[in-house]
Amino acid sequence: MNIGIVGLGLIGGSLGFDLRTQGHKVLGVSHRESTCQKAIALGNVDKASVEAKDLAAAEVVFICTPLALIVPTIEELIAHLPSNVVITDVGSVKTPIVKEVLPLWDNFLGGHPMAGTANSGIEAAQRNLFVDRPYVLTPVKNTPSNAVKMLEEIIQQLGANLYYCSPEQHDRAVSWISHLPVMVSTSLITACINENDKEVLQLAKKLASSGFKDTSRVGGGNPELGMMMARYNREALLISLQQYRHSLDELMEQIQQEDWKSLEEKLKINQQVRPDFVDG
Ligand code: NAP
Repeated sequence: MNIGIVGLGLIGGSLGFDLRTQGHKVLGVSHRESTCQKAIALGNVDKASVEAKDLAAAEVVFICTPLALIVPTIEELIAHLPSNVVITDVGSVKTPIVKEVLPLWDNFLGGHPMAGTANSGIEAAQRNLFVDRPYVLTPVKNTPSNAVKMLEEIIQQLGANLYYCSPEQHDRAVSWISHLPVMVSTSLITACINENDKEVLQLAKKLASSGFKDTSRVGGGNPELGMMMARYNREALLISLQQYRHSLDELMEQIQQEDWKSLEEKLKINQQVRPDFVDG
């Protein structure tokens, strides 16, 4: 199959690697000519250019640009595509994208591979990035069944675990497990660097080990990605943050009251439920 990828960065480049391995012909489009050349040299794509019109031969196109550029990219691209081409995107938020793209293109199906690293750009692309990772598709009432079937087959070839839900359910769920953690983690770093005593702060930096590494990782990652999550999933994220603030208040109350029994009870429950989230 001829598969187009717009946005040759971490996700687009990684998709290119694996789709080529599966025998597809991958046509890439990116913003910078230098990225196109690198993608060809690294083997992410068969061909690449900065011209959207060069995807005219694609049967399916994955839009892998930064979140804010997904809709403008599709607006530009559709002038060059026959109407039977299936377009999908990989954006981390679904409701606003699906709402804006559906009136433009019938054969559109939103998607989100739940895989990534702290790095970005074509050099960060990895083979097998999607293996055993969730990949969510968000069909709506009028999504053509052939578009669903086509993407289902491609995603299965990536070795990903496929899930379906509505765009709204997706955004609420990822708010809890992806967007809230970024905000919690970034506010942890902010709180630490606000330590007034310079010596204590220096010591904290020296003593920081695996616990801090784990809990600060997502908040210390790509700033643009974090900002986009908040901007595009604002409503769901604010609900999650409210609930989180409530949990924090409860925790502070228990510590202030020296209510060690309730605190221990909470920690026990959380120890029990954590595997439901992280052990697949
Ligand atoms: P990335 O590494 O920064 O890649 C995005 C690429 O898009 C850039 O390398 C850039 O390539 C290209 N680009 C920028 N403007 C463009 C334009 N106007 N036309 C064509 N290409 C353009 O970002 P990413 O992490 O792959 O994220 C891409 C998308 O995946 C985002 O929508 C994000 O929400 C989603 N996502 C990310 C992750 C993650 O963990 N990173 C996980 C799941 C989904 P040039 O070098 O040519 O400028």
